[in-house]
Amino acid sequence: MPPSASTLQVALPVPLPRVFDYRPPADLVAGEDAIGRRVRVPFGPRELCGVVAGVGAPHVEPKPVDAPELRHALALLDEAPLFHGELLESLRWLARYTHAPLGEVFATALPAALRHGEPLPDTHAWAWTLTPEGSREVERLRKGTRPRRLAELLQAGPRDEDALDLLLEDWRSAARALAKRGLAERVAVPASRIAPEPQAGPELNAEQQAAVETIVAADGFAPVLLEGVTGSGKTEVYLRAIADCLARGKQALVLVPEIGLTPQTLARFRARLGVPVHALHSGLNDNARARTWAAAWRGEARVIVGTRSAVFTPLPDAGLIVVDEEHDASYKQQDGIRYHARDFALVRGKALGVPVLLGSATPSLESLHNAQSGRYTHLRLSKRAGEAKPPAVRVVDVRKRPLQAGLSPETLQAIDHALHVGGQVLVFKNRRGYAPALLCHDCGWSAHCKRCDATMTVHAGGRRLQCHHCGHRQPAPLACPDCGGLALQPQGIGTERLEEMLAEKFAAFPVVRVDRGTTQRKDAMERHLDALGDAPGILVGTQILAKGHDLPHLTLVVVVGVDEGLFSADFRAGEKLAQQLIQVAGRAGRAEKAGEVWLQTHHPEHALLQTLIHGGYPAFAANELAMREAAGFPPFAHLALLRAEAQHVEAAQAFLLAAKAQIPLGPPFAKGEAIAASAVRNATGISPPLKKGGPGGFVSEVELHGPMPAPMPRRAGFQRMQLLLSSPNRRTLHAALDAWVPALHELPEARKVRWSLDVDPVDLY
Ligand code: ADP
Ligand code: ZN
Ligand code: ZN
Repeated sequence: MPPSASTLQVALPVPLPRVFDYRPPADLVAGEDAIGRRVRVPFGPRELCGVVAGVGAPHVEPKPVDAPELRHALALLDEAPLFHGELLESLRWLARYTHAPLGEVFATALPAALRHGEPLPDTHAWAWTLTPEGSREVERLRKGTRPRRLAELLQAGPRDEDALDLLLEDWRSAARALAKRGLAERVAVPASRIAPEPQAGPELNAEQQAAVETIVAADGFAPVLLEGVTGSGKTEVYLRAIADCLARGKQALVLVPEIGLTPQTLARFRARLGVPVHALHSGLNDNARARTWAAAWRGEARVIVGTRSAVFTPLPDAGLIVVDEEHDASYKQQDGIRYHARDFALVRGKALGVPVLLGSATPSLESLHNAQSGRYTHLRLSKRAGEAKPPAVRVVDVRKRPLQAGLSPETLQAIDHALHVGGQVLVFKNRRGYAPALLCHDCGWSAHCKRCDATMTVHAGGRRLQCHHCGHRQPAPLACPDCGGLALQPQGIGTERLEEMLAEKFAAFPVVRVDRGTTQRKDAMERHLDALGDAPGILVGTQILAKGHDLPHLTLVVVVGVDEGLFSADFRAGEKLAQQLIQVAGRAGRAEKAGEVWLQTHHPEHALLQTLIHGGYPAFAANELAMREAAGFPPFAHLALLRAEAQHVEAAQAFLLAAKAQIPLGPPFAKGEAIAASAVRNATGISPPLKKGGPGGFVSEVELHGPMPAPMPRRAGFQRMQLLLSSPNRRTLHAALDAWVPALHELPEARKVRWSLDVDPVDLY
């Protein structure tokens, strides 16, 4: 029998929409069981690590005259498939849905070490034990020496290395000495499942109880939206549902936003569940991530809490998926495979037949719409848990008021008062740096990034300029580069400037700034907050402070400048602003101390603020959904955005025009509609979809807009253009994409640009 009886179809991490055929490694007959295993293959002059996606018919011998010789794969890397069953099928679905190459989807789903071909790591612990000879020799070892003490410890049985660390200093050299003489050896033992006795939680209130019962009673897939005001005890509901899942012998996966996975959160989960809780986030090194992934793959990890990419965790015994703060923008991957972790969690939950619990105080309009139309179960927690009261919100009209670093005299007084009665104050400004721009007061020059269409942010008290889009940094000029004048002035307010002013004004109290500039290191936020302790003091920060760490002593939240968000062209800006305001406000008065929120604005009458203050998030959301429906925006339309960037704008435009020509669209609008539509378009940058099918069959339900420049037309030296597709019907949109995307790869213009397709884009930049 010839050694290679079949062909391996290998999905490789290259941007081509196909799999590649290889013969199996020379000494192997590969069958269906090869699917989902990693394989190392030659690819041009390189070697790549891919995943077997299929096994083809036996290779024909002799081959047809001009068929290219298939190359041999070099080696299968896994003894068992890393992807199989549900995860394999869900990833295939994701590749189809995002219109991305399967090989790139597989690569995205693997932790870096596994993606690069490292072996699946051991997840068992290591222990030391005496050999039979060692057991006999203990008494002969010199008394009091470290090897003797170690041997005595091991007489009772094997000890794992973590335990030895606690029992005997420098035991490793002693262990090596014993091993050398054949008296002790290192053995693998099952990973420790030891965890502290679970602590009891508070007694649930009626709403929480009802929520837990609904989730626990779910039989199979059940999408559930848990809408609970901040501090209403959503996490308690998760914990009970997870405990129930564990009691049934199942695994639970919990997704949290990038900035929500604090040591505090993990400690709460660990203390309450009584099993090891595995964390997966970007702060871990490659080995640790691969180990957690492997532990989940083996079914050893029972609870996994992680950020966006944790949605790819294998769950052989799945029982529950939780997505906390489901509205959070960090769930959407903005480069590479542009997946949405919440949406993919729902796909997986459906395939796994388990409930998916989406929690938020400010649900995305997509999820609210799904709940209202009956596709999701809608559960509510309407009151704060325990004794905590909702904070009082006050709108501060700052028109014509003298401002100090953006703060009005009334606001400063309120801060002063809060500090003097022993409270902590959070001053929120979603702008890091000293000031958003540097302006010459003599001639009007302002500092722009050389590589982006953006102003440079002033940092370091005015000494440095930095571009927040491409990262470019330079010293601030001492004189105006245009007129040589010395009247350079920082314009506007950033967190650094607020910190400077507040530290001066309230010198008797600590002022701590928390933003991405101060929290590069993973534990930095904790250290900053610990420095504050329970004593009165001020926190200044960006949205990084809006969630995660519990701040029980916070009594006053000041929001500086909500106005930028009130007049943005982005149709999601209102939603984002409302969510941010509610989340930040929710930080006040979480414990027994009552809380207040002061919103500073130049537009106190603005409809969004008024609705939010008088009707809360539900009223805002109802309004916003009605507006989206009238305008034909998501969630009432489905979008796909084709982006292209190049050194020269002509190349980007040529590609998008060629791409557009590949879609066989009928004329989308009757004339009157076109005019109405262009009005909406001018206001928002996107076109409303056509309501009814026009001439030209199904594709006329897909509305095309562009090519047009991206909202930021130049970034990091690249000219950026985009083409937007929109349809009221998701299926129609995807049918069009299915036909269209393969053709894009073939366009000669595609070679001169970097392009990407974003299905369900969250940001239209
Ligand atoms: P959320 O996740 O909705 O922000 P948490 O679950 O973190 O809310 O709860 C907020 C605070 O209220 C926590 O300190 C929590 O321990 C407490 N808490 C939650 N549920 C109850 C309850 N039923 N009784 C008393 N305290 C509760
Ligand atoms: Zn000047
Ligand atoms: Zn830049």
